[in-house]
Amino acid sequence: MSSLKNLEVWFITGSQDLYGEETLKQAAAHSEEIAAFLNSNTNIPVQVKFKPIVKNTTEIYDTIVAANTEQNCIGIITWMHTFSPAKMWIRGLQALQKPLLHLHTQFNRDIPWDTMDMDFMNLNQSAHGDREFGFIVSRMKIARKVVTGYWQDEDVLERINIWARAAAAWHDWQGAKFVRFGDNMRYVAVTEGDKVEAEIKFGFSVNTHGIGDLVEEIDAVTEDQVNAILKEYENLYVLNADVSEGGSKRKQVYDAAKIELGLRAFLEKGNYKGFTDTFEDLHGLVQLPGLAVQRLMQDGYGFAGEGDWKTPAIVRACKIMASGYEGANAFMEDYTYHFDPKNALVLGSHMLEVDASLASDKPKLEVHPLGIGGKDDPARLVFNAKGGKALNASLVDMGDRFRLVVNTVQGIDSKEDLPKLPVARVLWQPEPDMKTACSAWIYAGGAHHTVYSQNLTPEYLEDFARIANLELILIDKSTKLDQFEKDLRLSEIYYKMKH
Ligand code: MN
Repeated sequence: MSSLKNLEVWFITGSQDLYGEETLKQAAAHSEEIAAFLNSNTNIPVQVKFKPIVKNTTEIYDTIVAANTEQNCIGIITWMHTFSPAKMWIRGLQALQKPLLHLHTQFNRDIPWDTMDMDFMNLNQSAHGDREFGFIVSRMKIARKVVTGYWQDEDVLERINIWARAAAAWHDWQGAKFVRFGDNMRYVAVTEGDKVEAEIKFGFSVNTHGIGDLVEEIDAVTEDQVNAILKEYENLYVLNADVSEGGSKRKQVYDAAKIELGLRAFLEKGNYKGFTDTFEDLHGLVQLPGLAVQRLMQDGYGFAGEGDWKTPAIVRACKIMASGYEGANAFMEDYTYHFDPKNALVLGSHMLEVDASLASDKPKLEVHPLGIGGKDDPARLVFNAKGGKALNASLVDMGDRFRLVVNTVQGIDSKEDLPKLPVARVLWQPEPDMKTACSAWIYAGGAHHTVYSQNLTPEYLEDFARIANLELILIDKSTKLDQFEKDLRLSEIYYKMKH
């Protein structure tokens, strides 16, 4: 994914006119120094822009409205160096449309025991100034992340980094377009949902195109284009004789390349950030897109199979949050269990469409029959994924709200070759343990489709959910099933009362 450096967050410091010019000058200098430090810190992926100190209702309102309308501004960080009476913030906060982080910090880390006088006390009032601000944000029920600590602390920088990435993903959703080729897989429930509500709440749109529109793009692909991309495949992947030039399955690889080029052209022309298709609607396609989808996901597109339009959106959001990180954020499906009590595992995969960025070794490009869809044998990349800490996240429509279910897992390096399984696969142990995690997931209504993230922690999704006003259900090391069921019931009440 590309860099997030073209995006900016605004650093807004609150104060009031009471203090006199000298104190305000000092406050501004301190604030500028903090903003410059955050801006230059490599742990923070976006620009941090200092904004002149706001001292009254009008300045606050004007600054926030300007943040709302600045295209590249993805959120604001507020800090009260001095005391900023919070009724002054009401009008501005009512207008705020961007994510908010409240940085509860102090310019000096330590109390200067020997030199501290009343001037110092007068200037360094965050300890109570930020409480006054916090009260009004809570009273107005505005979602925000509160980060406490000295502004140079690694821990503080990491909290800001995570929030900035969540805000960037939210920014990416606003006005985003996802295309749905065909409709839903027949009779499937969890992949359905309210697309109108999603657009109102999340800012992205999902619209359909008949598969014929895609076929037109594929038909327009030239032989030269195909030959060029076949060369790329040969460089990147292991090709056995049957799929190499002159091989018995070369034609299927050729067709898959053509599908990739057509699909890529379609997505680029339409400025789409993700897509879904279904094996039940492939009219005019010679094979189910497998290889094409694997490679497009690697390039940053969100995707899920069978008409599922919610998973592409969350896959895309996770890809944005993880911009520049090692590891993958991939469309995944819980496929098969290993119920060995000493080594319980989930095998995750999909029919074909497993994100190529998960590959821990050079993928094999293979062609095999597919039992469903009734089309020609599709090409796909086959590989194993690396182990390590990971999580699964699933976005579902509960009818009256959207819910994000997250489960932390331990990815496992596969010791088995699975020589007869012609798809890419991932193995993991869910936390806290297989039985608790799977039961909890099912109680929460989590889908079989997820985004599998190798580099995001729950905090990214918590920040994202807070910004998106999205219910978040976390299953992790501390989950106990009886308490989990109670928490689900409490959450139900909360959302019933909220709406
Ligand atoms: Mn599926």
